[in-house]
Amino acid sequence: MTPMRIALAPERSPADRVVPLRALAISLLAFAVPVSAVLSFPDVTNAGFGTLVWLPALIPAFLLAYYRGLRGVAVALAGGMAVITATQVSVVAFEIAEPNWSLLLAIVLVYLVVSIGIAVLAEALNRERRKAEGMALVDRLTGLPNRRQLDASLESAFAAAERGHPITVVVFDLDHFKRVNDTHGHAAGDEALRQFGEVLRQDTRGQDLSARFGGEEFVSVLRGGEAASAAVFAERVLQHMRERQFAWGRQTVSAGIAVHQPGMGSYEVLLAAADRALYLSKSGGRDRVTMATALAVPTPALPSPVIAAEAVRPKERLFVVDDDREVRESVRLALAGDGYEVWETDDPKEAIRHFVAVGEAGRPAAIVTDVIMPGMTGMTMIDQIASVSPLVRVIYMSGYVHGPVSWAGAPGTVVAFLDKPFTVDRLLSTVDEVLHRVPEARATVLP
Ligand code: GH3
Ligand code: MG
Ligand code: MG
Repeated sequence: MTPMRIALAPERSPADRVVPLRALAISLLAFAVPVSAVLSFPDVTNAGFGTLVWLPALIPAFLLAYYRGLRGVAVALAGGMAVITATQVSVVAFEIAEPNWSLLLAIVLVYLVVSIGIAVLAEALNRERRKAEGMALVDRLTGLPNRRQLDASLESAFAAAERGHPITVVVFDLDHFKRVNDTHGHAAGDEALRQFGEVLRQDTRGQDLSARFGGEEFVSVLRGGEAASAAVFAERVLQHMRERQFAWGRQTVSAGIAVHQPGMGSYEVLLAAADRALYLSKSGGRDRVTMATALAVPTPALPSPVIAAEAVRPKERLFVVDDDREVRESVRLALAGDGYEVWETDDPKEAIRHFVAVGEAGRPAAIVTDVIMPGMTGMTMIDQIASVSPLVRVIYMSGYVHGPVSWAGAPGTVVAFLDKPFTVDRLLSTVDEVLHRVPEARATVLP
C-alpha cells in the first residue's frame, strides 16, 4: 500500500513556511538591479539621488519578513550588507569611481533601520495571526483540535481516501455522561472530559488526528484502512480511560469504527457509519468498541405485500431535521409552499420520540434530514426510526456527495442524497422522486 501523503496534523503557520522559489528569484532580481546600475553608471549612482537606486534591495527584507519573521530579516540584512559592501569595494578597487564613504554610510543606515522596522512589524503580525488561528481551531476545555479543524482534516483525508489512501474513523462517546453532570455537577463532568482528552492525545499517533467533535463526543481520524489496528487503538483508549479514577469510580466510554469504503460519497457518510456502530456499542451495553459493517443496521423482516401499497403516496406530512436553523427554515418554507405539511426539529432524538409518539396515522411520508448533527447523526436516527417502521423514506442533505452512496440503511428504506447547496426545484423533485419510488428488498439509493 502506498503511504498517504495528506497530513492530518494541523497546517503549519505561515511563519514556519519554506520561502518559495518565486520570492527568492524576486530577491535576487532586487539586488541585481542596483548592483548593475552602480557598476554601469558609478558617477551617477555614487552621487546625490543615486542613493535611491538601492531602494529595491529592501524588497528581500519585505519578502523574508513575511515568510520568516525576524529570522528572515536577519538573513536579508546580512545578504544586503554583503552585496552593498562588495559592490562599493569593487567600484573603488577597480578605480571605476571615487569612493563616497558618507553616502555608503547613509545607504547602510537606511537599509538597517527600514529592515529592522519591517521585521518587528512582521513578527508582531505573525504572532497575532498564529494566536488567532490557534484559538479558532482548538477546543478550550481539552486542548484538542475542535470541530472546525476536524471538518477540514476529514474533508481532505476523505478526498485522499477516494484517491486510494484509505482512512478509518473512530467515534468515542462518554457513557451515561448526563448522569455524571446531574449527580456530580458540571465541573466534575468537565474534569472527566479533560482527562479523556488527555488519554486520547497520549494514544493518538503523530500522523493521526483526534478531535473533540462537540459535547462528550470525540472523533479520531486514522491513516490506513486496517480495521484491526483501529480496533486495537480504540480498545487501548477505552482501557486507559478505565484505569482513571473519578469521584463516581470509573468513567467508561463507547466507540464505533468505520473504514472508508468506495462509494461512501462524502466524509459525512463515513462519520455517520462510525456513529451507527457507536450506537450499536451503546445498545449492546456500553464500554465497548463496535466495527461498522454494511449491514450493521437493524434489518427487520419486510412485509412485502405492503410495499406495493406504499409505493405511491399522496402529498402529505414531512419531517425536517437539521441543527442549522437557516437551512431548516428555508427547506420548511419551500416544502410548505409546495403543499406539504411540515413538522421540524433541530434534535434527532426528539425526531425519534415524535415519530414513535404520533403513531401509525401521523407518520411522515418522508424525512428530510441533515447527516451530521450534535448528539446523533441523521443516519443513526433513521436506523432507529427504521427499526420501528421499516419502510421509511429519507432525503439526506449532505455536502460533497458525488455519485451513488452506499451504506444507505436497512432493507426497504428509500434514500436519496441532496448535495448542499441545492435549489428549491432540486429539493422538490428529489422529495417527489423519493415519495414515488418503489422500495426494494434492499435499501435503494440515488445520488
Ligand atoms: P450515553 O451513554 O447514551 O451516551 O448517555 P449520555 O448521558 O452520555 O448521553 P446524552 O447525549 O444524553 O448526554 C450527554 C450529556 O453531556 C449532556 C450534557 O449535559 C453533557 N455535556 C455536553 N457537553 C458538556 C460539557 O462541555 N461539559 C459537561 N460537564 N457536560 C457536557
Ligand atoms: Mg454519552
Ligand atoms: Mg452523546
